[in-house]
Amino acid sequence: MKLVHTNKFEANKWLITARWFYAPAIFAMGLLSKVDPFGNGVFPVPTMIFLFSLFILTNVMFWILVQRIEILDQRKYLNFLGTGQIVSELIFFSIILHLSGGVESVAPIFFFIPIVSSIVLFNPLGSLFIAFLSGLLVNGTILLEYFGISQKLPGYAGRGVIEFQEILVMLSSTVIITAVYFIVGALSGYLSSVIKRRETLLSESKRKAQLQAEKLRLLNEEYNNFARKLVRQDMELKRETQEAEELSREKSEFVSTVAHQLRTPLSAIKWTLNALLNESSSNFTSDQKALLLKAYESNDRIINLIQDMLGSDRAESQTGLSLVEINIPDLINNVIPDFKSTVEKKGLKITVHTEKDLPKIKADPQKMRAVFQNLLENAVKYSNRKGVIKIELNKEDNFLKVVFEDNGIGIPKEQQSDIFKKFFRAKNAMQVDNTGSGLGLFIVKSIIERHGGKIDFESEENKGTKFIFTLPLNK
Ligand code: ADP
Repeated sequence: MKLVHTNKFEANKWLITARWFYAPAIFAMGLLSKVDPFGNGVFPVPTMIFLFSLFILTNVMFWILVQRIEILDQRKYLNFLGTGQIVSELIFFSIILHLSGGVESVAPIFFFIPIVSSIVLFNPLGSLFIAFLSGLLVNGTILLEYFGISQKLPGYAGRGVIEFQEILVMLSSTVIITAVYFIVGALSGYLSSVIKRRETLLSESKRKAQLQAEKLRLLNEEYNNFARKLVRQDMELKRETQEAEELSREKSEFVSTVAHQLRTPLSAIKWTLNALLNESSSNFTSDQKALLLKAYESNDRIINLIQDMLGSDRAESQTGLSLVEINIPDLINNVIPDFKSTVEKKGLKITVHTEKDLPKIKADPQKMRAVFQNLLENAVKYSNRKGVIKIELNKEDNFLKVVFEDNGIGIPKEQQSDIFKKFFRAKNAMQVDNTGSGLGLFIVKSIIERHGGKIDFESEENKGTKFIFTLPLNK
């Protein structure tokens, strides 16, 4: 059972409950005093029963009041209730003191009860005040008896006349009792304040711990939700990847089937048109020959487009690279002759600068050849007559740096961000050449990136274009 309560409701209730126990004890003591060898005057049993009943009745009233206050949530009345309880105790014990023979009886001991009650209900100062009041009542009773006032009051059961010497002895003993009241009041008041403070601290840390636990629970819940979401997303991602792989495989199959199916008849057309054009006997008029040439060029464009589409599909596909050690300058020198006729026709100049002792790199030779072919084809295609194409190869840290530079038509600024996109062609490029597919740079970028490299470019319209790419050396 707790003696000290930080909650005033609890404190009031506790006191009322305690009274159910000690009230009969006091009544029993009153009965015992009838056989008390020291008791010189004892109040009659009916008065005792009356007082006891009144005491119980008051307690019932307090009990009802505390319930009402709690239901109506009128906390401000709790202090009145507490004061009422203490005052009623002081009145009861003063009456008992008077009826049981005054200060000579054992009744002064009962004044500890209101002091203890005040410790439960009030702050330390409050209990000291009650201790002081109790002392005043006991000492006042002595004086009332000495001046013969108590004797005139009904129910007086003392000896009657008290001598001056006696009163001195009495007063000194009650002063000691009062001092004890004070010490008890002060000590218990202090103790109760310490306990109250500790309890406040405790309840505060309990509250904090509860708050912390709640936060932790929420965090845990959030974490669980997040983890569940992550698992779900992971599963979804796996499913989507599978679907994408499946789609990509189907697409590759479709592209290569269509390309192969188309290539055969297109090659036959190319061959036929070529034969017709080269026929020496001139059965065709010049107009007819021009038409045949147009048909031949268009057919060639379609063959090129199919070639590029197959190339881009291969560059994208997840099939592994077959890496071997290759010498890049050799590869370039191998590719340049493919463009001999156009280079000569346009009067272009191609220069290759290679840093000395350039190490070999590990790369897929077929794919690397496609890179150089596409870049050189663009440089040749988009160069003006008498243009210069410079190719430079250097070692930079752990990378091989390749630069392709031409002084051709350049790329318009507003279209530069799109040039690596599939099928993209700048408007100025379409004016000078209508055979391109817009797939070349996409293929180049895919291949370089799959080799762990990077590609970038600088270009200015009508000034020229510079493609720079790197490839890791120690692969
Ligand atoms: P295309 O078949 O049209 O050459 P690419 O993918 O190789 O397709 O190039 C995409 C576009 O980038 C070209 O259409 C052109 O506009 C631009 N481009 C690429 N290389 C050059 C270059 N050397 N000079 C100017 N424009 C270029």
